[in-house]
Amino acid sequence: MKKPNILILGAGYGGMITASRLTKELSANDANITLVNKHDYHYQTTWLHEPAAGTLSPEKTRMEIKSVLDLSRIKFVKDEVVEIKREEKKVLLKNGELEYDYLVVGLGSEPETFGVPGVHEFAFSKWTVNGAREVKEHIEYMFAKYNNTPEEERDQLLNFIVAGAGFTGIEFIGELSERVPELCSHYDIPKEKVKMYVIEAAPSALPGFDPELVEYAMNLLESRGVEFKINCPIKEVTEEGVILASGDEIKAATVVWATGVRGSSIIEKSGFEAMRGRIKVEPDLRAPGHDDIFIIGDCALLINEEINRPYPPTAQIAMQMADTCAQNLKALLKGGSLKTFKPDIKGTVASLGGKQAIGVVGSRKLFGASANFMKKMIDNRYLFLLGGPGLVMKKGKNPL
Ligand code: FAD
Ligand code: NAD
Repeated sequence: MKKPNILILGAGYGGMITASRLTKELSANDANITLVNKHDYHYQTTWLHEPAAGTLSPEKTRMEIKSVLDLSRIKFVKDEVVEIKREEKKVLLKNGELEYDYLVVGLGSEPETFGVPGVHEFAFSKWTVNGAREVKEHIEYMFAKYNNTPEEERDQLLNFIVAGAGFTGIEFIGELSERVPELCSHYDIPKEKVKMYVIEAAPSALPGFDPELVEYAMNLLESRGVEFKINCPIKEVTEEGVILASGDEIKAATVVWATGVRGSSIIEKSGFEAMRGRIKVEPDLRAPGHDDIFIIGDCALLINEEINRPYPPTAQIAMQMADTCAQNLKALLKGGSLKTFKPDIKGTVASLGGKQAIGVVGSRKLFGASANFMKKMIDNRYLFLLGGPGLVMKKGKNPL
């Protein structure tokens, strides 16, 4: 009998854990497993604010896929997914096509612009390894250029705007504000020449998060020179900076866009019904009307029934979805009932640069060094789940 083909799209948190779990749940005779990804490396999206600000090497945030997955059990295809042809049970790639019996979509997210013009042209918005490299190089170039630029033209070179005070924006400015003294010293620039703005549309930074922790974060960042503009939606990004809904303009040579995400554009291109690129999944994580397609991670929309709002897309949920997805694929192939996915939210911890962080774990609030310890342990735990102690030794962070 022909072995069924399981095709996994995307080697992010969801795709990697699904692939790794399937090699344990299934034997080589049960199915052919194929994983497709744009690059031959996997990166930890959750670490990217660090290489973007230049506080961590991009090499630390990525690893060769062949170094962590058993490629004698998984066929890896380095290619870009272009479209899913559901009726033909095929996936079109830039350089070919693949057929599937079961499909797992874990293509992650893309920046949400909410229709604000100029984001793609003038802001840095790509939270990928290459996106992080580009921001870091640009920031350093602005510092290098400053002393070579006539005085009347150089003020905005050292103005940095972060659009959005969600977790991504806060974590990025935490790293940048921590690095600014070193950059000023390296390029002989007085620190007061640097201006860092975080511009947020909602009435609070980190909307919905614990107010005491938000205050802690804002006070700390302000003490490093960050200026918050709260309740100030950005309505346009230009070559010169940003224009606010009020009509005011803030000039800056660097705008980093962090106003949230939408699911991969491949979802809508492939004709799935979706909200901001995310498919509202069935309880077993399959796409409605498609018994052969699982949607995991940032491409999946899952409603938190307690508050009737979607769960925020996180790595924590992507990894848990991957576990359920692998078990449900096993049930489809070998018999048994499919599990309902229920997220087990352990908490949220965000870094603030240096040895600072904030977080809520269970019912405990964490600040400063203890939160920083927890954040590093969470980062290391993922490496442990994926590649065991060896990967933690190679790529892990020192929690102290
Ligand atoms: P991803 O991990 O983004 O992986 C998607 C994969 O698909 C990538 O490898 C990509 O290259 C590949 N891909 C995309 N398009 C194609 C294509 N067309 N063809 C082939 N391959 C493709 N969440 C937390 O829980 N905790 C945190 O601390 C946290 N911190 C974050 C910090 C930052 C700076 C950011 C940006 C996000 C953070 N998140 C955090 C959110 C978290 O990173 C995402 O929710 C998570 O990465 C989603 O996992 P995923 O598997 O769906 O997608
Ligand atoms: P987000 O949606 O959490 O925050 C985006 C922020 O941008 C919001 O506060 C929003 O009000 C603001 N915004 C939207 N439009 C704006 C505009 N025009 N002008 C100014 N502000 C505007 O998105 P994110 O921070 O990119 O995070 C994406 C996902 O990743 C979330 O689910 C988040 O929880 C997760 N994440 C988690 C962590 C962590 O746990 N440490 C870190 C980073 C990201």
